[in-house]
Amino acid sequence: MLLTSLLRIILTRSLKPFVFNGKHKEALEFEDLDSLGLYVHIPFCRSICSFCPYCKEEYNKALALKYKAALLKEIELVCKDTNKKKSVTSLYFGGGTPSLMIEQLSEIIEKLNSFFDIRDGIGVELHPDDINDETLSRLKNIGITMLSVGIQSFNKECLRKIGREYAGFEEKLLLIKKHNFSVVDVDLIFGIPGQNQEILRNDIDTAFRCGATQISTYPFIDFTFANNEYKPLSHKQKKEMLAALNEKCLELGAQRTSVWTFSKKDTAKYSSVTRDTFLGFGVSATTLLKDVFKINTFSINEYINRVSKSSLPTSLTLDFTVRQRAVYYLFWSAYGLQINEANFMKIIGRPLKKIYRFEFFIAEKLGLLTRKDGIYYLTDKAAYIYHYLEQEYTTAYIDKMWNISRKTAFPQKIVLK
Ligand code: SF4
Repeated sequence: MLLTSLLRIILTRSLKPFVFNGKHKEALEFEDLDSLGLYVHIPFCRSICSFCPYCKEEYNKALALKYKAALLKEIELVCKDTNKKKSVTSLYFGGGTPSLMIEQLSEIIEKLNSFFDIRDGIGVELHPDDINDETLSRLKNIGITMLSVGIQSFNKECLRKIGREYAGFEEKLLLIKKHNFSVVDVDLIFGIPGQNQEILRNDIDTAFRCGATQISTYPFIDFTFANNEYKPLSHKQKKEMLAALNEKCLELGAQRTSVWTFSKKDTAKYSSVTRDTFLGFGVSATTLLKDVFKINTFSINEYINRVSKSSLPTSLTLDFTVRQRAVYYLFWSAYGLQINEANFMKIIGRPLKKIYRFEFFIAEKLGLLTRKDGIYYLTDKAAYIYHYLEQEYTTAYIDKMWNISRKTAFPQKIVLK
């Protein structure tokens, strides 16, 4: 907490905290942004996993249908002032378990296609229970090109500790392989109690052997509002596991594409979080534009109510100062291990070197960054520091924000110091 506050003060050169307020605008300015992504949140699951912090509830068909209608309406409200189709990078469906609304996904895609040209494909998060020939064929038929599968671990004991059951994951991944999706991302968790480096190495090996083109590894984080019976391993153990993970992936010929993701060479990336700007639709979805960050309400019923009144379901808005936006940009670019000076200039409107000359000079001297052709690259040493920071940030900011948003549909204000 202290560390994130200190960093915020240094990098923004101000004591001003991040202030999210309950007032919102009905019009979003995104027409001039040239690398915009799309995200749609599907908040339904068959059952609820104890470790999961995301916005979701148990599936209910009647509610899901009302939710779909509200989603279509939200898309129309956001795009009502667009004159021509806007080119966007990609579309990701996350959740929750998007495949529970497989019958409605094509309608949602069609609606988005009427306003946007999606250049780099459509991705969907897939629960292992939904991996079967029929679902995979249907996903392909509606235009899905990328899958992210929440395996978490192939080890039965680790799965038990996070309230999951093993269900022939290797065969399921091999089945996906037959369907030739261009990207198959496998989510794995590290730092689960009882997990050791051998188990983790075996998980990585198995994922790539069975067809993953990418693995996304997440440290087990104990959110205050999650219902975890078992607690995560210590910071030191997690750091050692991340080192083992990095070593194993390199040994298998995979490249590190962000602090927590590794991809096979010459494959596209599944990256729903590392985009410069994006529009989010659905409950809890966030939108990041040039100088504004906004979050939708976490309440499904309030989302449906608000949209039915032709008003955006925004619950909180942060109007960035230039330096706050610069910090946000740096944070997510650093997660992707590259900070591009030209992109920084495009989004922030000021040269990176002018704003952070001193910090980047020191970081280079300390061996945290290297620079080539206008791009700063994070070294492995910097990636470990980031891994630690990201967990601090999650505890200080995301945990607080999600905890309040889960209890209050439209909070008046949230201050993140
Ligand atoms: S981990 Fe996945 S399946 Fe489990 S509750 Fe969270 S979103 Fe649903």
